[in-house]
Amino acid sequence: MLKIKQFAFNPFGVSTFIAYDTDTREAMVVDPGMISDRERKIFDDFISTNQLKVKQIVNTHLHLDHCFGDNYVRDRYGVTVAAGLPDASLGRNLARQAAEFGMVLDSEDSVGIDVPLNEGDVITVGNYSFEVLHVPGHSPGSIVLYCAEGAVAIVGDVLFKGSIGRTDLEGGNHRLLIDGIKAKLLPLPGKTMVLPGHGPATTIEAEKTSNPYIR
Ligand SMILES: [Zn+2]
Repeated sequence: MLKIKQFAFNPFGVSTFIAYDTDTREAMVVDPGMISDRERKIFDDFISTNQLKVKQIVNTHLHLDHCFGDNYVRDRYGVTVAAGLPDASLGRNLARQAAEFGMVLDSEDSVGIDVPLNEGDVITVGNYSFEVLHVPGHSPGSIVLYCAEGAVAIVGDVLFKGSIGRTDLEGGNHRLLIDGIKAKLLPLPGKTMVLPGHGPATTIEAEKTSNPYIR
């Protein structure tokens, strides 16, 4: 069975997900946002308590709040970071991103992409498959992870309950974002559970009928 554990980490309240197959115990970590020892322990405890095998990190995009914990998970579990290549420069410039929010990071803080993801790529988690949908506009490399069998989409900051991602940050493009949501997300089955990068879950059907940005 596919299970998805959700955490809210760091001052931005980013949704970090651990998607895992209860049969094989294989796990994918999406947007590791842990910023403190306390949050890293919460994460590690979940992995060990559930006897999970972390196979990979996938970033929906490389805004800093979504990748504070990337290097920690990468080093501790010996796994690769997969993300959309157009976000590579964001990953290289976490310190500059932090400065925009009045935060100070170590100037060496950066996240590299080991596995570039493209539209149509498939990521396996045990016996389940997540399809990569490239939906730029919030950031140039933003991706959505769609699992048809699990009827779930992990959407990062592309789509929120009643809202959409902001497009005023570096590389943002409002038109591209709206077009991408309409072309790639709204056609998904209505019952598909939508798990955004911040805030509560929703469904494709609910957003199709009530989200003012995409009606
Ligand atoms: Zn973002």
